[in-house]
Amino acid sequence: METVDIESGQLAYILIALFAGSIGSVMLAGLLMLTNDHQLQAVSTYLTYLAGGTLLGAALLGMIPKATSMMDTSAAMMLVLAGILFFFVLEKFILWRSCRNKDCKRHMQAAVPMILIGDAFHNAIDGIVIAAAFMSSTELGIFVTISVIFHEIPQELGDFGILLKSGLTRKKALLYNILSGSTAIIAGLLAYYFMASMKSLIPYALAFSAASFLYIALADLIPEMHKKTSVKDSAIQILLILSGVFIIYCIIQTN
Ligand SMILES: [Zn+2]
Repeated sequence: METVDIESGQLAYILIALFAGSIGSVMLAGLLMLTNDHQLQAVSTYLTYLAGGTLLGAALLGMIPKATSMMDTSAAMMLVLAGILFFFVLEKFILWRSCRNKDCKRHMQAAVPMILIGDAFHNAIDGIVIAAAFMSSTELGIFVTISVIFHEIPQELGDFGILLKSGLTRKKALLYNILSGSTAIIAGLLAYYFMASMKSLIPYALAFSAASFLYIALADLIPEMHKKTSVKDSAIQILLILSGVFIIYCIIQTN
């Protein structure tokens, strides 16, 4: 009976994390949008710098070591490699990650449905990452969720900007973003039930998820950061990336 208790507690954690990472991020981004406060929106840019660090830390200090403790190291690394290539190809086909700056060319040219579909896909993967992380350990789940929220808020904020610019009302933009965010909850729950019945899948899901985090940080967030070249911006970026890594490092050390 005890294992049943643990499982239901785990499911509760996963549900809370999935809601926080998807709908929660959309709501927070919506609030930021409504305030129309440029300082608050600058905070959102800083969140992407922090996310660069937490994503790298979560993947390299948490998820990959955890996966290799549960499965063969070279098989785990092969999965990470396959994951990186997979996300590269995926990005070729859909608007995998859109950018945080509102006037991004790729974003302006993309049709609204493509943005929403790309987002829905991305959020579904975030959901699977959250489920896999919580199923291997609560601490891992917590910092994976933090990493998701940090990169999702600026992402959703950027999406709001595009959707409003394309003529959608605020209500519709919010509704569409919530809908594309809810794929995280559906995919996360499906992944949970799938992995609960086949526990041996968890390290595989972790290794593959780590690739998604590495890809977002290295191929998406960091290239965006390089577009800002002033000494001040660069210093803030380095400081916040290091802070992000440090947050993850501290969570791991205290456990
Ligand atoms: Zn995400």
